[in-house]
Amino acid sequence: MITMSNVYKTYDNGVQAANGITVKIKQGEFVYVVGPSGAGKSTFIKMMYREQKPTTGSINVNGLSLETLAERDVPYFRRQIGVIFQNFRLLPKLTVHENVAFALEVIEEERDVINQRVKDVLKLVKLEHKADSLPNQLSGGEQQRVAIARAIVNQPKVVIADEPTGNLDMDTAWEIMDIFREINERGTTVVMATHNADIVNTLRHRVIAIEGGKIVRDEMEGGYGYES
Ligand code: ADP
Ligand code: ADP
Repeated sequence: MITMSNVYKTYDNGVQAANGITVKIKQGEFVYVVGPSGAGKSTFIKMMYREQKPTTGSINVNGLSLETLAERDVPYFRRQIGVIFQNFRLLPKLTVHENVAFALEVIEEERDVINQRVKDVLKLVKLEHKADSLPNQLSGGEQQRVAIARAIVNQPKVVIADEPTGNLDMDTAWEIMDIFREINERGTTVVMATHNADIVNTLRHRVIAIEGGKIVRDEMEGGYGYES
């Protein structure tokens, strides 16, 4: 469960990117975050995983108050959340297996536990056969599937994705959506910022629209609602 209450965010340059956001996202929901460029979608999402802190207001994720979360507990908090970006952000010199294992090695799991979990998660994203490849040997869609595997290998309750299909063609975007659907069906909350109207209008879920740092629409089974 994620709650934001009266959240405001003003960046150092004076830009007000969140302007009084109050919202509740229940465990297991699938939420699209839509809105024009510069509306505050990324800021909204970044505050959920403590990449940005609100100027005022409170945020609670998985029972943790981010306001009172000590800096030393941030890495522990982040491991409970899987984050996926538009440009994949894989480590270029590590293989697919190593990129995914890395997320587990930092929490000092045993080697055979790590290997089994990496195998399982690569199977889920249908990339077992590419375990020894390097990221630059993969297509964009395959790289994003590795990034998803890395994000979910710690079995987070929440997966947050910022434009995960933004660099992909439509067919590949739908392959990625199939994986998000599966993750969500297993009970994981999915929060996804997107400009992809086809996806939002076809695979219907809750839609939160942000403009000028405010939530201007919040609908179950909503549509994209913008020209695209
Ligand atoms: P969106 O994801 O909807 O495009 P963002 O949250 O990235 O919107 O940005 C909202 C506003 O905040 C924009 O005006 C953007 O330029 C500004 N902004 C975003 N990040 C920063 C930052 N780190 N420092 C200053 N301004 C920022
Ligand atoms: P991406 O497309 O990968 O989400 P962005 O272009 O949104 O990346 O932002 C890249 C980085 O620059 C982020 O850390 C964001 O907070 C920051 N940023 C975005 N807009 C501004 C801005 N107007 N001024 C300063 N930093 C910004």
